[in-house]
Amino acid sequence: MSGERGDGCAFCDALKRQDGPENLIVLREPDAMLVLNKYPYNSGHCMVVPRRHVTALSELSVEETAATWGLVARVSDVLQGSLGAHGVNVGVNLGGAAGGSIEHLHVHLVPRWVGDTNFLPVIGGAKVLVELLEQTYARFRSALQDSAFGDGALGDGATADSASADSASADSASVDSASVEPGEESE
Ligand SMILES: [Zn+2]
Repeated sequence: MSGERGDGCAFCDALKRQDGPENLIVLREPDAMLVLNKYPYNSGHCMVVPRRHVTALSELSVEETAATWGLVARVSDVLQGSLGAHGVNVGVNLGGAAGGSIEHLHVHLVPRWVGDTNFLPVIGGAKVLVELLEQTYARFRSALQDSAFGDGALGDGATADSASADSASADSASVDSASVEPGEESE
């Protein structure tokens, strides 16, 4: 369980690429980052991830622990603030038996709305999923820029496209209902 290697790790690979809807990194900070979940339980499902490849909470330094949970706190505020979530589930799955699919430590944040009675995704079809992720990415970037902690933090690596962010947020109210394609399954 060494914490230094990240060969073949989805998060470590994403860190090597340009930030955008392709690598799903919404925000990079020195010790932690915010990443959209490629297979969201709910629109806006994201993860706060320490940048260093560690697999246990105890492997984080004091600074990394503060950076990781500090970002969790701020993102949960954004989800419940400008992104309009009624609640947020925050959780860590340690080990495969607990449901962890990526070893690299990460904290899930799943926004919840009154009336979404379970975690089943409302998404049908890979193409729709990609569009949804791009819209979610743009909404996140816009929301982070609007929030106080977004100042200066979004200049590293990512190039926010304000035009697409605007159009995505304008469409946001219809994202969920428009995404359902009856009869089309992702698998
Ligand atoms: Zn990793």
